[in-house]
Amino acid sequence: MAGPLRQVTAMTNAQGPTVILGAGIIGLSTAYHLALALRGQNNPILVADPSSGICLGASGQCEGALGEFGFDEQVQPLGKLSYKLYSELAARAKAVSGHAFRSVGYSPLIVHTVFSHKYDPSNPRLPYPVAGPEELSKLPSWLRVQDSWKGGLINDGSTAARVDPPTFCHFLQDECEKLGVEFLTYAEAVRIDQQAGEEVSTLELRIGGSEIRQVACRNLIISAGSWSPALFSRLFPSVDINLRLAPKQHVQTWLRFSAEDATDGKSVETDAEACHQVWLSPLDENDDIHISSFTNGELYAAGALERVAGKTPPLPENVQPSPKELDELEERVRRYVYLDKRRMLNNGKAFMPAVPQGRPIMDRVPPEIFASRMNSSKEGHSLDVFLSFGHDLDGFTLGLGSGKVMAELLLAEESSIDMSPFKLPLKDQRQAGLNCTIL
Ligand SMILES: Cc1cc2nc3c(=O)[nH]c(=O)nc-3n(C[C@H](O)[C@H](O)[C@H](O)COP(=O)(O)OP(=O)(O)OC[C@H]3O[C@@H](n4cnc5c(N)ncnc54)[C@H](O)[C@@H]3O)c2cc1C
Repeated sequence: MAGPLRQVTAMTNAQGPTVILGAGIIGLSTAYHLALALRGQNNPILVADPSSGICLGASGQCEGALGEFGFDEQVQPLGKLSYKLYSELAARAKAVSGHAFRSVGYSPLIVHTVFSHKYDPSNPRLPYPVAGPEELSKLPSWLRVQDSWKGGLINDGSTAARVDPPTFCHFLQDECEKLGVEFLTYAEAVRIDQQAGEEVSTLELRIGGSEIRQVACRNLIISAGSWSPALFSRLFPSVDINLRLAPKQHVQTWLRFSAEDATDGKSVETDAEACHQVWLSPLDENDDIHISSFTNGELYAAGALERVAGKTPPLPENVQPSPKELDELEERVRRYVYLDKRRMLNNGKAFMPAVPQGRPIMDRVPPEIFASRMNSSKEGHSLDVFLSFGHDLDGFTLGLGSGKVMAELLLAEESSIDMSPFKLPLKDQRQAGLNCTIL
């Protein structure tokens, strides 16, 4: 029986080939939960991405911080669900020796914040409410702590955890493949041919720039992060839904480096049992960075959030930090951590997909919108289209939950959470005929 927050969606075309466009954490999690639910049935699932590999966008470059707190009220149930799913995977891995999840480095995450001025937990610049003041001696030893600082504890690791994002994404891909999901990279969706009365539609993919492949498609899920609105317009040029990114998109440059053997001879160790994340944002307006450790001796730092005009970015591989951006970030990180250039392991820059309403869109596009515009009737439409994008700063922690609720939506199952906050905000459908606009 459905609880008060639960809902059952209309029947969809669950029995039929499903194509998921976008192989970031959102597309991967959706494929995983769908494949789990359809295990043993003959329902092909294909994940296609134009990049040269999976998770090359924000998902493979992010910090991998997970937690069940810090979301706005409407997103909180999704945050809790997602955190629970990560914890359950971790518990299963602990119980079953050799479980592949072990390799993703899931560890508790202790979250600290530091202040250069008076301790003020009501400081609006703090990322999350502070659980309490903290002695400076409890800050991780890799941090160059200054006596003038005050420390605050945001989370003691009981409701926050961390994974290594690319490793986790590859783990999910492996699990999906074991369940029969097919992956195609270098695969750009070009057009979709939808005919009335036909059981399935045909999606045309351009592979590697030249080869054309046509695949059967009954359910289409667009989960291409920042590229989702442009992709929707390309596939459905005559469907007047104006999906939009937020006017400003968040972009962040990051560094990953080894903590050991610092230049000035100080050897710095990381905690092998728990990861630590330190928010330095309250220190100084211009020092908006956070630095965190992995249990394997590596550190990760991400710079201030840049806000750029919300147009579709180039593909992930073409988004690179400039040498100047990297130098600036390194210089700032060096104020707080012993950092030697020779210990630099990796760096990058990535876009986070944000939509105007400030929370993800996870919904089925109303079929009647297609019926009026495509060569298809309302009764006989052969394609169901779903959207899951706009996860902005929190897509990794919301990833597993988003995949689960998208699978439930597609299978017309009872939803684990109230999905109304994530609905496609169609404005004045009736007034505008079916010429819909996204708010
Ligand atoms: C530096 C940094 C740190 C972050 N830290 C955290 C964190 O600690 N915790 C957290 O929860 N979140 C964090 N985030 C946010 C998080 O990374 C994103 O919200 C999340 O990864 C978005 O996932 P996605 O799958 O929607 O998009 P993406 O990961 O960007 O994936 C989109 C995919 O779509 C593909 N694509 C592009 N065009 C097409 C097309 N035409 N057809 C099909 N596919 C296409 C791309 O190649 C890419 O693979 C961070 C982000 C950054 C940049």
